[in-house]
Amino acid sequence: MRVGIMGGTFDPIHHGHLVAASEVADRFGLDEVVFVPTGQPWQKSEFAVSPAEDRYLMTVIATASNPRFTVSRVDIDRGGPTYTVDTLRDLRDAYGSDAELFFITGADALGKILSWKDAADLFELAHFVAVTRPGFELSASHLPDDTVSLVQVPAMAISSTDCRRRVEEGKPVWYLVPDGVVQYIAKRGLYRKVGNN
Ligand code: ATP
Ligand code: MG
Repeated sequence: MRVGIMGGTFDPIHHGHLVAASEVADRFGLDEVVFVPTGQPWQKSEFAVSPAEDRYLMTVIATASNPRFTVSRVDIDRGGPTYTVDTLRDLRDAYGSDAELFFITGADALGKILSWKDAADLFELAHFVAVTRPGFELSASHLPDDTVSLVQVPAMAISSTDCRRRVEEGKPVWYLVPDGVVQYIAKRGLYRKVGNN
């Protein structure tokens, strides 16, 4: 069993995330990709993160049509800020020691992970796959070859930050996020300025 793990805030999940997961699944012959929305809201930049249940449900909606995509609540149910090492340990327990884990992350986020003190533990738990996205070039020289692979994902200049801004400005997010997510955002009134209903 080869299992990809795609952690993220997913506020909202968008087609960049889905294309990256699909591409890595194809490249590494993964049986499943588990999307893991991060735990309790915390201040990210100056903006609060949407409720975990909304982010979880958008992730479920976005992945529902793909038989190889699943969603895990481990980070949400653990509570507190999410540390990748906890995510990997919980999924290692859930999938058993026969499963080979592949942690999929944007090259931007990987830079932060590699700077953590427990980076060596992480590499024992999973193989790391860094997907490159426009605007983030990874200097491959810092990477241990045996544990981190680089995968170029078709140019997807989509970010959750841009999607949130577009909704706030009343611009469309059709085709940047799955249709069901567009409808969920509207139904729950996410990302709109207060008093802009
Ligand atoms: P934000 O703009 O709020 O930072 P985001 O678009 O980066 O959001 P996250 O939920 O933070 O989304 O990302 C989860 C993971 O997906 C991270 O590892 C991130 O690097 C990666 N990722 C985000 N956008 C893309 C994209 N367009 N293509 C490939 N990977 C992406
Ligand atoms: Mg990000």
